[in-house]
Amino acid sequence: MAGIQDHFKRDANGNVYEVDFKYVRNHVPLNWFFEHMLDAKPKPMSGAIRYGVCPNEPACQAASVHSVKVCVKEDSWKCFSCGEHGDVVAAAAFYWRITHREAGLELMRADVDMLKHYIPPKPETAIERDDSALALVLQKVAEASPYPSKDALAYLGGRGISERVAREACERGILITIPNDAFQAKAFLTEVAGKELMERAGLWKPDKKAPACAFRPLWFRSQSHCAAEFRLMREPRDGEKKAMRYGGKSPWIWEGQTPDDYMLVEGPIDCLSAVEMGSKRTIFALPGCENWEPNWFQMMAEKNVLMALDPDKPGYAAVEKLKPVLEAFEAMVGIFNPPNRIGDLNDQLKAMRGLI
Ligand SMILES: [Zn+2]
Repeated sequence: MAGIQDHFKRDANGNVYEVDFKYVRNHVPLNWFFEHMLDAKPKPMSGAIRYGVCPNEPACQAASVHSVKVCVKEDSWKCFSCGEHGDVVAAAAFYWRITHREAGLELMRADVDMLKHYIPPKPETAIERDDSALALVLQKVAEASPYPSKDALAYLGGRGISERVAREACERGILITIPNDAFQAKAFLTEVAGKELMERAGLWKPDKKAPACAFRPLWFRSQSHCAAEFRLMREPRDGEKKAMRYGGKSPWIWEGQTPDDYMLVEGPIDCLSAVEMGSKRTIFALPGCENWEPNWFQMMAEKNVLMALDPDKPGYAAVEKLKPVLEAFEAMVGIFNPPNRIGDLNDQLKAMRGLI
């Protein structure tokens, strides 16, 4: 323990007055803190480790027991639910509800032997993807499946989205549906796109019997046509991800009838919800409220932009970040905030349709 004691600076009375934060960061692995202090199970993902427990709980409540909302990459963590982030000291300060200084001291008391024997989980190696192969898969599947499936219509109907809007989404090339049964979906995809092309697209891992997208029958093709989100049509089971995105960062754009009016929403379901609710604006859906590039908003220069992001902490934070970007393009920015707002746009739509 002598080594660790050296990192406490003490006054004449022997009281610790300074913490060597750098030492703490280097000696207490962040993954160890999540696994041993928060009792969180690591879930290796491409280039990062995810955990289902946030240091900011109970303030940050889990979206579902299956969510892996916290991303740990190198020496920092970020929670996609509450938006908090930081290093191991910040994690400890949140978790123990103490100051950073107190957290630093506490972490320096961590069992050195235990830390020495800790083996951190390895992230999955990021797969090399060929975006042109992905675009080709999406094109082939869209051509083979030009109308929404019955199951997809039933699912979307349950979320308040009508057959008319679903069909139009298919015609516009935004929505693609594949068979809801994973075996049928795999056979369909193998016939239409082929395994080799799907491997090149990064959609099918060579060692897997079936591509993950075969289990996610609702596909939303992005504006670039080189990216898509694949979604389940049911509640996720243990450890499953509700939606997966492949390809580069790209929005979904539903061109409207009033060329001067835009609406900014989160994700493809909210995009369809806005159309279903009767908006005549061009609906611009972000692939997540933090996934965007400033130059995307060039098209909104001097236009009216209604921001309808999710009414939650990350959504509010995104509005604050987006406002100056839009105003730099001289857009007139408004915020969608009806008096009876109950959740995201789809929740709002479901409430309007009596589905909640
Ligand atoms: Zn959180």
